[in-house]
Amino acid sequence: MNRADAQQLDAADTLAPFRDEFVIPDPEVCYLDGNSLGRLPRASQARVERATQHEWADGLVRSWHDWIDLPTTIGDALAPIIGAQPGEVMICDQTSVNLYKLAWAGLAASDRKVVVGDDSNFPSDRYVLRAVAEAQGAEYREAKIDPTEGPTVAQLEAALAPGDVGVLALSLVAFKSGALADCAAITDLAHRHGALMLWDLSHAAGAVPVALEATGSDLAIGCTYKYLNGGPGAPAFLYVRREHQERLQPPIPGWFGHDDMFAFEGQYRPAAGVRRFGIGTPPILSLRGAQPGIELTAKAGIDALRAKSIQQTELLIARFDARLAALGFTLGSPREASQRGSHVSVRHADAYAITQAMITRNIVPDFRAPDSIRLGIAPLYNSFVELWDAVEAIADIVESDAAAPFRSDQRSKVT
Ligand SMILES: *Cc1c(COP(=O)(O)O)cnc(C)c1O
Repeated sequence: MNRADAQQLDAADTLAPFRDEFVIPDPEVCYLDGNSLGRLPRASQARVERATQHEWADGLVRSWHDWIDLPTTIGDALAPIIGAQPGEVMICDQTSVNLYKLAWAGLAASDRKVVVGDDSNFPSDRYVLRAVAEAQGAEYREAKIDPTEGPTVAQLEAALAPGDVGVLALSLVAFKSGALADCAAITDLAHRHGALMLWDLSHAAGAVPVALEATGSDLAIGCTYKYLNGGPGAPAFLYVRREHQERLQPPIPGWFGHDDMFAFEGQYRPAAGVRRFGIGTPPILSLRGAQPGIELTAKAGIDALRAKSIQQTELLIARFDARLAALGFTLGSPREASQRGSHVSVRHADAYAITQAMITRNIVPDFRAPDSIRLGIAPLYNSFVELWDAVEAIADIVESDAAAPFRSDQRSKVT
């Protein structure tokens, strides 16, 4: 394969027109961090503008008639992307908060007193799951997982075997390595041991097809600001399988989860359906900003996005083998496409300084301590040829020691 082949792939790419749906002030910037903060959809800019001018400034409190159902309207738009049904998804709060809410609710509804997580999960998830267990006088048990492989049935079996687990909570795509877990097999494992399955879809939603309904997954949460391009700090989502909705209770009973919020009753009565997991007033401007990214993802179709993402991660790995393997890099992601999400991690002892040198060359990845450079692929706007060029630039940085000036740098607060 050569650079002209990458150009050929771009010419044949049916998703290429979606790049024009995004605000891209500098086309020279190769943005490989859509797995951390997706680009700004043009429609989000317009929608937020309309929400401030028309809905807020003109409509004032009357606009609540349009706003009140946004968390579930946008949730319904997201549902097909993660294999859920209408009425099972709501957009609200942060990912960490939603994880607390659903893990707490799942554990409280169970007569078991153990939550199982894993030691390669995102730190916030580990803190939250431990706190949920402590809040209910339960045990938090952490399975040891090969971080590059991600959670597997074989690695989880011992933690579930005692038969005392109420909730198994894992990330479907690992944040560092991009490893994609087997949703069906692990959900089945949880169920065989009498546990509820709770998935964190932060690095999966909009990146890989997820079949929450078909796999029998019980609960799920995730971000909208990564592959769903919802904007910085955009509200997260939660999914509660319909059959559990009436028996689960949120840990924080708020008026937005009340059955009749404008009756202002003195006693909390949970709303029917997923709405009971709302707590307080939703952030409307952020919801308006998040809506177009979800609609664009649905329009492109998750299967088409996945097909392009696989082609693109395959290209990155082929170029890794050709150019980076000899320069002190190791591959930090699974080689098998079916076991990988939409980013490729390359590991190098000098990863932090190399990342800084990449940024000076208009290539924006991110660095994850201690030694991973994450190359995130967003098939809605990344081209094949820019991936080709990015790997050439990384090789050149190492060959010419262009990372040297950054080696002694104080690490910045955000990496
Ligand atoms: C990005 C991410 C989060 C972020 O949580 P916030 O509450 O939105 O800050 C949590 N968990 C995982 C697995 C993530 O990838």
